[in-house]
Amino acid sequence: MQGSFSLRVDSSVVSLIVQKYGGSSVADAASIKRVARRIVDTKKAGHDVVVVVSAMGDSTDELLDLAEQVSPLPPARELDMLLTAGERISMALLAMAISDLGAEARSYTGSQAGLITDSAHGAARIIDVTPGRIRSALEEGAIPIVAGFQGVAHDTKDITTLGRGGSDTTAVALAAALDASVCEIYTDVDGVFSADPRVVPAARQVPFITYEEMLELAAVGAKVLHLRCVEYARRFDMPIHVRSSFSQREGTFVMSPQAIATAIDEGRAMEQPIISGVAADVNDAKITVVGVADKPGQAAAIFKALAGAGINVDMIVQNVSAASTGRTDVTFTCPQGSATPAMKALDSQREAIGFESLRVDDQIAKVSLVGAGMRSHPGVSATFFEALADASINVEMISTSEIRISVVTRVDDAQRAVRALHTAFGLDADGEAVVYGGSGR
Ligand code: ADP
Ligand code: ASP
Ligand code: MG
Repeated sequence: MQGSFSLRVDSSVVSLIVQKYGGSSVADAASIKRVARRIVDTKKAGHDVVVVVSAMGDSTDELLDLAEQVSPLPPARELDMLLTAGERISMALLAMAISDLGAEARSYTGSQAGLITDSAHGAARIIDVTPGRIRSALEEGAIPIVAGFQGVAHDTKDITTLGRGGSDTTAVALAAALDASVCEIYTDVDGVFSADPRVVPAARQVPFITYEEMLELAAVGAKVLHLRCVEYARRFDMPIHVRSSFSQREGTFVMSPQAIATAIDEGRAMEQPIISGVAADVNDAKITVVGVADKPGQAAAIFKALAGAGINVDMIVQNVSAASTGRTDVTFTCPQGSATPAMKALDSQREAIGFESLRVDDQIAKVSLVGAGMRSHPGVSATFFEALADASINVEMISTSEIRISVVTRVDDAQRAVRALHTAFGLDADGEAVVYGGSGR
């Protein structure tokens, strides 16, 4: 079914491959040398290679811990400057290791590589990619090594970061700008699985997945790919090959449905399963606005206050009002980091909105099932809720899209819920998924 799958790589012309190596793939000196060997082998096989690299191991978390010890609330500009140092270390070390193998490598910061962003520190968006220096390096036969997850703001000229896990996005953005044939994302598992292999050892590797399904999975907590990277790949129809830097196995191809259909026609892929995966996100908080008057305009007032504070709201539930009081509760979820600003924004509008009190709960998880086949297969919801009921897991909120069902549960129930759903939908594989490295942090 797999094997010689080569996408748009035509052997008669030199193809360009962008390879991104995550933190666990460059965790120490030996790993850096191993990765250097892989890169040089790709070059020797006749491809042009552009490399994007993450900070070594857990060093981004360590820099964050250090910042916290120095200052409880560091200025966002300085935090970005600090964090981008992690990728600078690994890019220079990797270039040294490649040069020891007899090839020429040149490292570049995101800014030098032309990654132009807006000025939203900590969550900057790429607005342009001008990789002139990368092109010149390629023309001169060198291997450019680009620091992931960073850029430079077009207006302030300050150094920015793209958000945790953002090196994936750097890689896809460069691949699109350079018209690469494929963007390879090297990590510490063999590809995209039907669930996080650290949580579900029986998780099954998916050979192909559409951009759309991968977007849903990334959005609901499958951190194997950064959400923005999948958005970018879909916009530019850039195939992503997620694979392990610790093995030679073929990984998972994230592509358009058309490309997958062609692969099926040519016998290189099987029909897509109904369900592609299960994921949990433990980084959300639940806020309840208690005792809101049940009349037109109240929800608008609540969500306008939240929008004004830049809060991204996810699930929303409004309870039926108690007949005696004519008041109701409105509950919503948002990222944990937004809970305090959300409470402040609502409290400042207390009079205008007219609610009684606010409650926050960060001991929750969002558990989701994703699959394009849900559109056309009845009974998915029934199996979903039956599996949770059988595991005695209480459901606090529900939301759905065409290809996703998500529920809020207690955080302590999340892993059990993921395993129960994985089994109930027949996703368990016979063997155990391999996790090659990384701390999962
Ligand atoms: P990297 O350092 O290479 O960027 P990450 O830690 O960001 O690696 O992402 C890889 C990890 O994503 C895996 O080790 C795995 O625990 C986790 N993961 C979560 N959901 C999935 C999934 N559905 N398939 C594969 N890996 C997943
Ligand atoms: N080093 C950054 C992080 O840990 C970016 C990345 O690895 O993608 O989030
Ligand atoms: Mg990552």
